[in-house]
Amino acid sequence: MDRQVVGILGGGQLGRMLVEAASRLNVQVRVLDPTAQSPAKQISNFTQHVDEPFTSSEAIHALARECDVLTVEIEHVNCAELAAVEESGEAKVRPSAAAIRLIQDKYMQKEYLAAQGVALPAYTSCDTLDEARAAGEAFGYPFVLKCRLGAYDGRGNYVVKSRDDAEAGFARLGGRMLYAEKFVPFTKELAVMVVRRPGGQVATYPVVETVQRGNICELVYAPAQIDGRVREAAMKVATDTVSCLPSGSAGIFGVEMFLHEDGRTVLVNEIAPRPHNSGHYTIEACCTSQFENHLRAVLDLPLGDTSLKVPAAAMINVLGGANGYTSVLDPCLASLEVPGATVHLYGKADAKSGRKMGHITVVADSALQLRRRTDLIAGKLANASG
Ligand code: ATP
Ligand code: MG
Ligand code: MG
Repeated sequence: MDRQVVGILGGGQLGRMLVEAASRLNVQVRVLDPTAQSPAKQISNFTQHVDEPFTSSEAIHALARECDVLTVEIEHVNCAELAAVEESGEAKVRPSAAAIRLIQDKYMQKEYLAAQGVALPAYTSCDTLDEARAAGEAFGYPFVLKCRLGAYDGRGNYVVKSRDDAEAGFARLGGRMLYAEKFVPFTKELAVMVVRRPGGQVATYPVVETVQRGNICELVYAPAQIDGRVREAAMKVATDTVSCLPSGSAGIFGVEMFLHEDGRTVLVNEIAPRPHNSGHYTIEACCTSQFENHLRAVLDLPLGDTSLKVPAAAMINVLGGANGYTSVLDPCLASLEVPGATVHLYGKADAKSGRKMGHITVVADSALQLRRRTDLIAGKLANASG
């Protein structure tokens, strides 16, 4: 188990939590990230990390030569070089370069999933202002203009409110490849982590509810408070979505979904080919965390139990706020006195507004107890960020 060396492209908080899981299994990890003091490198006393961009072709090959398996904690990587690594046999790439390439382009991802019969919001290609206006006619207003590549935390999205607003959307997202999507009137956003071994076997985590504020995930509730039929539907959509990905799609995947206001339709928003913010709760609340299961999957080891080991859990993101690092530390300090709470700080120096600096997981015996505990922390968070 501990003989294979894993190389991770990206050294942020997801890489850091992968390193935590790897250390328990005594799996060696080498991290490729331009920052020498990146969150993942800080907690791994190992001199062979690579301080280069995770898009650099030379750095990717240098990492591959030192590792048995390459994986990613971010999808915005250089897939052409990862494909070259696969071809040369320098290292295995999991998920495969083709799977990452498919998912990193949100329009190609939609085209693929639609062809596989996955339920999605209506969408269309959109390269010109005229096409955006045509999308508005077809979908009605508002609709969403989305960047195909490089999107995160909603930064590549623009909600077009009227025909006249389309021009502003184009200006805001200027010059990037776009597509258009119908606005989904959802009552909840749901998410499911699904882990897949190289042979195709999958295991599915519980359905959780995610709450976004300003397009950034703020809270996750596990399990989601939804009726049994919706739960079954979301589990099936998520499992089918990850199962239909091309062969070579090994690792953990986050499946983001909308629960339509009709109360039963579940649509896929997007998938992530890596550990996901909606799966952080699994560290304290599930038998095997998303991070450990990702490692097991990319190393082709038996998958761990994905079930909840507590009745209820929540995850609260700690973001940089108006008061800098005070906005971060105050709620973390407060949570030390909350039963069932676990603090995770990522070791990022610059607490700029909206940046994910850490998270707090809360476990409880009931939904009511969970609500009481999370409210205590959420109150501190609101005060601290001013
Ligand atoms: P990330 O990768 O960080 O999750 P992203 O930049 O890829 O985010 P999306 O997931 O596409 O962005 O959208 C961010 C949020 O915007 C969603 O979680 C949802 O709240 C809202 N949103 C996105 N698409 C739609 C839609 N078609 N209808 C309604 N709301 C939407
Ligand atoms: Mg995304
Ligand atoms: Mg998203």
